[in-house]
This record gives sequence, C-alpha cells and structure tokens, in this order.
Amino acid sequence: KRSGGSCALCYDTHMASGASADQLQLQQDLREALQRGELALHFQPKVSALGGTLHGVEALLRWRHPERGMISPAVFIPVAERFGLIGRIGDWVIEQACEQVASWQAQGLVCRVAINLSAHQLRQPDLARRILSTLERHGLEPSLLVCELTETAMMESIQDGCGVLDELDAAGVRVSIDDFGTGYSSLSYLRRLPASQLKIDRSMVIGVDVDRQARAVLESVVKLAHALDMEVVAEGVETEAQRQVLAEAGCDVLQGYLFARPMDAMALQDWVRGRPT
Ligand code: C2E
Ligand code: CA
Ligand code: CA
Ligand code: CA
Repeated sequence: KRSGGSCALCYDTHMASGASADQLQLQQDLREALQRGELALHFQPKVSALGGTLHGVEALLRWRHPERGMISPAVFIPVAERFGLIGRIGDWVIEQACEQVASWQAQGLVCRVAINLSAHQLRQPDLARRILSTLERHGLEPSLLVCELTETAMMESIQDGCGVLDELDAAGVRVSIDDFGTGYSSLSYLRRLPASQLKIDRSMVIGVDVDRQARAVLESVVKLAHALDMEVVAEGVETEAQRQVLAEAGCDVLQGYLFARPMDAMALQDWVRGRPT
C-alpha cells in the first residue's frame, strides 16, 4: 500500500510465493529498464589456448540502475526469470548481440558471439526459429552464434522434447554447455546433448596449478569432451600458472581476467586492434 496502487497488484500475485520487497521493487524497475535503455551488453574475449588469438566473445548483460548503479546479472536474471521478464530481456540480448556482430563484420572484424540462454527461454517452442530469423535479418552465418546453456537447462529441454537445441544445432548454431562442473555432472548424459562445446566452470579452474587432484579431474574432463568431439573452453582464467596448466591439459579456448575483463563494444574493438592475429 505504501508504494502505491500498481505495487499492491504485485503484492497480491507474488508475495504469497515469498518474493522479498526488494525483489518486487527490482522487477518493477526491470520492467522499465529496457525502454529506458539501462541495459547493455558487454563483451569478454575468448582466446585460443595456443596462439592467444581471438576465438570469439561472450556477451554478458549489464544493468545500470539509475539509483543503485551497476546491478549484477547474477542478481537480476533470477528476478527476471521469476517474474516472467526473461523472455523479453532474452529477445533483446539476441537482437543486440546479432546487431553488434553485424556491425563489427561491416568494419572487417569477423567475430563469433556467445549468448547466455536461461532454462526459461528454452521453454519457448519457437525460440530456435526466432534466433535463426534474427541471424538472417542481420545477414549473419548461424555459425557465428554460440548459445551457452547450463547442463541442467539442456537436460530439461531434452526431456520436454521441444527440440529447440536440435534445431539450433542442425542449423549450424553452436550449442555450448556452460558452467560444467557445477551441476550434477551426469557424464553418461553428455553424449546425448547436442553440444559442440563444453565450458569448464571457474570453480574447476581454481587450483589446477597447485592441486594434483584438481588437475587430474580437469585432464579427464578434457579427454572426455574431446572424445565426444566437443571443443573445450575454460572460463575464469586469472593467472599465468592456470593458463599454462589448462593449455597443457588440452583446453582449446581460454577466457578470464588474465586476458581481458568484459568491456563495452568500443573497448572491445580497441582491444582486438592491439592483439596478434
Ligand atoms: P557465466 O555465464 O558463468 O559468465 C561468466 C561470469 O564470470 C561473468 O560474470 C564474467 O564477468 C565472470 N568472469 C569472467 N572472467 C572471470 C575471471 O577471470 N574471474 C572471475 N572471478 N570472474 C570472471 P557476470 O558478467 O557477472 O555474469 C554472471 C552470470 O549471469 C553469468 O555467468 C550468466 O550465467 C548470467 N548472465 C549474464 N548475461 C546473461 C544474459 O544475457 N542472459 C542470461 N540468461 N544470463 C546471463
Ligand atoms: Ca556463460
Ligand atoms: Ca560460470
Ligand atoms: Ca554433437
């Protein structure tokens, strides 16, 4: 009541499900963030483990809140999912990422982009069709797009039988298993996932340079992924010692603060210009 009529409505529908006042406020703000242009994509480079050349970028969502400043996607994505806003936000991410890659391409910078998809988005049966038509509208080859999804989201999608992942895979969009090593890694299911890339989570990267057992796990994951014809990316690489172990273990692609932090599109162009090709 205190915050006015429109909020009373949210109270009725969501308070029973345990949403905090803070989350309710955040979802109100998030509804307007898109129109107000408060959302932006930042891009973090992925480099080849051997030559250090640019392999692609990951698009990471940023929200500059007018009062609270930068809010982490780890905070507002769950809010968006909970309040049914992830569809619109996800569509915006797909559109923006494609627009950016097309603009880079026009400037002679051919660069693969990875976007993060949430399990909620995968429940839209027309998702693959919409992604493919967005690519086409921007004149982009499907192979320029990578879709990163957690193993849990992929398993759910396959059990639902909606075929979104197979459609993307068949059209040449690359599907990547994100955060590998954080879920219930059901290794036997790996070969059933239509994925061409596996991303080893930062939690598995930490310690590989000092812990013999962490290194053994890493090495067997890389072997398994390669045996399943998947490319291996390691994320959250922060130190030279980690880089060396990851490269020796056979990771194909590396990503992390050691190389670059996520940055806006302009900064990324400058970063690329200063790189070996
Ligand atoms: P993620 O997909 O695992 O993305 C990697 C996160 O690690 C990013 O955090 C990135 O900034 C951070 N990171 C990269 N290199 C390093 C490093 O060397 N050290 C450390 N400590 N961190 C590193 P960010 O940008 O805060 O994103 C958090 C999560 O939010 C992402 O995790 C992803 O799950 C989600 N997310 C981000 N953008 C989107 C989006 O557009 N859609 C959806 N559905 N989720 C998104
Ligand atoms: Ca990701
Ligand atoms: Ca991660
Ligand atoms: Ca495959």
